[in-house]
Amino acid sequence: MLLNISGIPVEVCKKDIKNMHLYVKTPDGKVTVSAPLTMSNDVIERFVRTKVGWIKKQIAKFDNQPRQSEREYVSGETLFVWGKRYYLWTEYGSRNSLVLSGDKAVLTVRKESTAVQRESFVREWYRELLKAEIARLLPKWEKITGLKAAGWQTKYMTTRWGTCNTKTAKIWINLQLAKKTPECLEYVILHELIHLVERTHNERFVSLMDAYMPMWREVKATLNDQTLDYME
Ligand SMILES: [Zn+2]
Repeated sequence: MLLNISGIPVEVCKKDIKNMHLYVKTPDGKVTVSAPLTMSNDVIERFVRTKVGWIKKQIAKFDNQPRQSEREYVSGETLFVWGKRYYLWTEYGSRNSLVLSGDKAVLTVRKESTAVQRESFVREWYRELLKAEIARLLPKWEKITGLKAAGWQTKYMTTRWGTCNTKTAKIWINLQLAKKTPECLEYVILHELIHLVERTHNERFVSLMDAYMPMWREVKATLNDQTLDYME
């Protein structure tokens, strides 16, 4: 059954349960109420009506989240670069380019290009941006910590921000960090560097993080606030 409460569709699921539960689900903000089998629809509706303020607040929270979803690379979409939101403005031309101007990200692509082709162009654009920052920040953190990576690479990942091979001392940095604030990149660089001497997130690992970046927990929280791209 579907209720309409102040214009919000609310799905009702009757189940063999004792109490009513109201949920606003991620990532789409869909509202569901589960209710005991014997409960009348009137009672359920009245209950949901008393929660409208809460429901609206939850939905607004989802809307404000800089969530990444499948995109077409057309005007009006948003693009995050170093934690800042840009509005995509797509133009057609023979040569691909992406230029940031004010709060606009002007993407020039061939008119007949597919979303996949646009995506791969934008991804390489992010890669160049990220590589330049890693080239600047990794030596900085190597100097601070006295630790040294044997090499590094950028990689598009959907589950991890960075990885480290302790045997080869090589570090991989997620391409998607170019979308987050620069502090997030510094945090991941430091995290992976420390893995060179401490494989697990044990006490020693944590105390090293504390020593080099006292604010790391706050940075980590903002990083995990923002989800990675839609999983392919
Ligand atoms: Zn780790």
